[in-house]
Amino acid sequence: MVLLTKTLPMRWNSNNKKRYVDLNYSFTKMGEEFEVKVEHLPVHAKNEVKVECDYCRDIKGVINHFSKQFANYLSERKYIPKDSCEECKYIKMKENKEYRQEQGILTKDDNGWWTFRENRLLAVKEYLEKYHNFEGLLKNKEGKKLYHNIIKFQELPQNLAIELGYDLENELLYKRKPQKYYENIGKLIRDIQKIIDENKLEFFPTVGMIMKELKIGHRVLKKHGGYIEISRKMDYEPQNLVDNSGFVNRSKYERDTANYLIAQNLPYLREQYPFEGYSFQSDFTFLVKGNPRIIHGEVWGFPKDSTSPRGIKYNINRKIKEKLYKQYNEEIELISIEGPETFDKKTFQQIQENLFKKFSPFFHLPFEQVELELLIPTEDMSDRELFEKVMELSDDEEYLPETNYLKESGYGRYYNQIIKRYKYEEFARLFGKRVRYKENSFWKKEKRIEFFYM
Ligand SMILES: [Zn+2]
Repeated sequence: MVLLTKTLPMRWNSNNKKRYVDLNYSFTKMGEEFEVKVEHLPVHAKNEVKVECDYCRDIKGVINHFSKQFANYLSERKYIPKDSCEECKYIKMKENKEYRQEQGILTKDDNGWWTFRENRLLAVKEYLEKYHNFEGLLKNKEGKKLYHNIIKFQELPQNLAIELGYDLENELLYKRKPQKYYENIGKLIRDIQKIIDENKLEFFPTVGMIMKELKIGHRVLKKHGGYIEISRKMDYEPQNLVDNSGFVNRSKYERDTANYLIAQNLPYLREQYPFEGYSFQSDFTFLVKGNPRIIHGEVWGFPKDSTSPRGIKYNINRKIKEKLYKQYNEEIELISIEGPETFDKKTFQQIQENLFKKFSPFFHLPFEQVELELLIPTEDMSDRELFEKVMELSDDEEYLPETNYLKESGYGRYYNQIIKRYKYEEFARLFGKRVRYKENSFWKKEKRIEFFYM
């Protein structure tokens, strides 16, 4: 609070005469010097004044004098009546920002607005009031801004929405197409083909992908004979790239990487957008508290020197992505995994070691040995293996365990696999067992939430 300069020498001229005479200074003669009290200077005065840094004194116990223009001295004290030297500027900026936030006068366009979590919550609320859900979040300008300003702080708009009390299941889900839209199977097949073409899929899209991309419910597929029937009609083998979390991967390499991470209890996000303004997605994203850089993981699908037409195409894209990762390396760290090298023709042990080598420098993994069955998808398990697995939880030899109990106990993935093949009761009958409840709500609820996170 120390303005060291008390008065300044000034010369009378035709511009200042009236001002200072009105302030009771006695006029002597044009061009003659006189002393003006600092408080009488006009607010825009550019005269240098001497001040003391309040922060150097209060924080470091150091006396630090410096000069600045009077006009700046005033304007910099608009909110916080304290002076800061060049070095302490950032401490003051922070104080300033916090003060304005408290007063409710910090606006979205001001620097630092997004640094307040309450503002980020507010932004999510405003966004949802306007758009009602997060569908197309990254396709509009506001959504992109929201997303990028939130992920900087290691969170997602979806998490904040839940915190705000939004019911993800009912309010934030994509809107489905009306039932009648796919009355005609020809149209459905054409649109599924479009998914394959547009995403350059090497496999038949999974149930989840079809439902998500076409914005349809399970009923539409059932109506036309079911997923498997439709895939056969289109001359494809139905594929399963679902990992142990229920997420649909784009390749087996990705799926097995995901299963490894799940077994290591390492949390991650899928299909995030590392580069602002680009539609590229990464395979895995790790938000680590305390690490200012966001870690992204890529599992590359082709060898670098691939000579197949699809491999060549793939690697062109890869090069662009890698260039971007380099460009953004102040904000992003990349874990780069060569799919074929890591997984193809490798023993189970080698795969684990390869993945451990990639991830441990970033996360200090304890390297839990992953049980084979955790890495190998449930789809490769036989009915008998599935049966023996779920019976581990049964408290009555005559009955299969209840489905909710399976899910709560972490056996949900076995259950998911069973009901892909049979109705739960049918499955029980195969092994001469019974079930206690009729099961029907699984697809309705759990699956829908899962799709939202895809
Ligand atoms: Zn200072």
